[in-house]
Amino acid sequence: MRDDSPYAKAAPVLVPMPAPRPYTYAVPDGMTVVPGSIVRVPLGPREVAGVVWDSAADAVDPKKLRPISEAFDCPPIDRDMRRFVDWVSAYTLSPPGMVAKMLLRAPAAFDPEPWTEGLKRTGSEPDRMTAARSRVLEASNDGFAWTRPGLAHAAGVSSTVIDGLRAQGVFETVMIPPRPVVAAPEAGFAAPDLSPDQESVALMLRQSALAGGASVTLIDGVTGSGKTEVYFEAVAAALEKDFQVLILLPEIALTHAFLERFQDRFGAKPAEWHSDLAPRMRERVWRQVAEGTVRVVAGARSALFLPFNKLGLIVVDEEHDPAYKQEDRVSYNARDMAVVRGHISGFPVVLASATPSIESRVNAMQGRYALAKLPGRFAEAAMPDLRAIDMRRNPPARGKFLSPVLVSEIGKTLERGEQSLLFLNRRGYAPLTLCRVCGHRFQCPDCSSWLVEHRFRGQLICHHCGHNEKRPDACPECGTLDHLVACGPGIERIAEEVVADFPDARTIVLSSDIMGGVRRMRLELEAIAKGEADIVIGTQLVAKGHNFPNMTLVGIVDADLGLANGDPRAAERTFQLLSQVTGRAGRTGRKSLGLLQTFQPDHPVMRAIVSGDAEAFYEREIAEREKSGLPPFGRLAGIIVSAVTRAEAEGHARALRRSAPRAADIHVLGPAEAPLSLLAGRHRFRLLVQGERRSDMQGFVREMLEKGPRARGSVRVSVDIDPQSFL
Ligand code: ADP
Ligand code: ZN
Repeated sequence: MRDDSPYAKAAPVLVPMPAPRPYTYAVPDGMTVVPGSIVRVPLGPREVAGVVWDSAADAVDPKKLRPISEAFDCPPIDRDMRRFVDWVSAYTLSPPGMVAKMLLRAPAAFDPEPWTEGLKRTGSEPDRMTAARSRVLEASNDGFAWTRPGLAHAAGVSSTVIDGLRAQGVFETVMIPPRPVVAAPEAGFAAPDLSPDQESVALMLRQSALAGGASVTLIDGVTGSGKTEVYFEAVAAALEKDFQVLILLPEIALTHAFLERFQDRFGAKPAEWHSDLAPRMRERVWRQVAEGTVRVVAGARSALFLPFNKLGLIVVDEEHDPAYKQEDRVSYNARDMAVVRGHISGFPVVLASATPSIESRVNAMQGRYALAKLPGRFAEAAMPDLRAIDMRRNPPARGKFLSPVLVSEIGKTLERGEQSLLFLNRRGYAPLTLCRVCGHRFQCPDCSSWLVEHRFRGQLICHHCGHNEKRPDACPECGTLDHLVACGPGIERIAEEVVADFPDARTIVLSSDIMGGVRRMRLELEAIAKGEADIVIGTQLVAKGHNFPNMTLVGIVDADLGLANGDPRAAERTFQLLSQVTGRAGRTGRKSLGLLQTFQPDHPVMRAIVSGDAEAFYEREIAEREKSGLPPFGRLAGIIVSAVTRAEAEGHARALRRSAPRAADIHVLGPAEAPLSLLAGRHRFRLLVQGERRSDMQGFVREMLEKGPRARGSVRVSVDIDPQSFL
């Protein structure tokens, strides 16, 4: 231990809990820690893992401090990552410990992976040769070390044969280091021939990678234009410079095809990171990212908090996707935080989308981001022909939901032996059940929302809190038997209609309700891609990134859904989702069609999609945002106050409002009862803080919270900077 080490006697340690700053611990004699070291420390009656932080340790007599219990044998969290944690904490107004908690998600990975015992040939020969022994010698002739069961299996002998050979000194015991979770990718494994458009974008990306320094490039190109192909060139450039790379994807657990594509290009798969990964695998990925063995990670938003030590590029694919926003605990947008990460470390960030967010578009327009456009689909693939079906003129038959126009197109597609996709972003059978006799509506007891009927499971389910009950035969209010009616469609009901109309077609219903979880979903998606289904009925799960070569018809069952929910981004979101879904059609050059069932064919969103004039739509949306001072021209922060009683929640929200500081450029709206006024048994009130582009929103909200009353009893306050949801 160096005497001048700042932590010779005491060190600040950030622990994974909502404390405002690191705690100070004594460093025992003989232990060396540096900023970033991962350590085990006592915390109350428990022991937790924390990170040695940069702030000065408190000037306390070290003898009075509790000592660090253990410094793990783990590469320290690098300086940029520590600055990132502090930055995210300050920006989101979350305690730094809660951000660090996201970094410390794989506790078993703080210890090195164990080496395994292996066997290696010594060169000496056995005293007596048998058939089994000669098979073992043949199998192990490659000069490599083998595990005992591995060699027994390869040679087709029992392990006792191997033990016998070891006893004679034919094999020696060696230790085998842990295996990498993925092989190393090669930048030049299979470079593609790019089209001239693609080549100019690739050149731009390669140049920013070579130039070094922070930059953001937005790739704007329709589905199938080759965005992935092109950003792979940026990945190659970063790999050549020996950097680690992070590729963020919104539905990584389902985009199996992506991993294979990556392998075709780089000769090895990227490491995956998402919540469906087996725990052991998560630990190994975490550890190997920290050690630098893993070069490329393809992951969900939480991959931003992996302990990279040499990160040199982040790609955010489908950058407009709402899945990048985390809403519980630390509420952050992974796309925006990726840009921050690039700034801190000084490396390029690439955003890609067929329908970029208004935020990114404006950033590109104003010159903060470089814009790279990919105008058309690659090769002969053509965009689908898009049309609106006016549901007022072509209504479905009574009790049905598909217009005759759509049904007839499904029939034609079926005859051609091609696939149709019917898209409805609503799980279950029907969003509302009521009693025809007394009018009783089934509502969640804990939320202000209707229960959704799931007929397949025979249940009524709340999509907000998960409450479920058996669907009764009689009305609980008036007792009448068999007079409950389902109102409106969910995908199960559309499937029922399809099966009635096309009894011989192979139908697949796909949503997150599917039994068997992610594995089963992957299989179903692969089956669809192979053409093993004629009609697919699905939620947004089927919309994201998949390539279904035989799909030539996409029908949007309810294009108006999501337009009228009071969200300032409703039109933008609808446009993005519908464009993405219709983009599933026609990826291989055959003629394809997208039909939108709508009651508002003249709505700007429908007109933009049908005319293909996305530019006009964006221009109009951007002008409106600017006029009303909404993001990105102004800033928003949501404050949600919830409590077990309505009075408590409202009282606290009002008191917070009164404690708002005075500012010319920032004002507070509300409190108002939240649209989702009851959630999981808690009453909710919302305050909305609105400021200008350069306003100090964080300072304002922090002061408001500090001056306001402490949250007592059941009251909880959560802050959502740059909110995406207004429920
Ligand atoms: P996007 O990411 O914009 O949806 P992709 O990169 O997935 O587009 O490209 C769409 C399809 O076209 C993919 O199957 C891809 O392999 C193919 N493709 C695109 N560009 C090329 C190219 N230059 N050479 C070969 N295939 C390409
Ligand atoms: Zn509920």
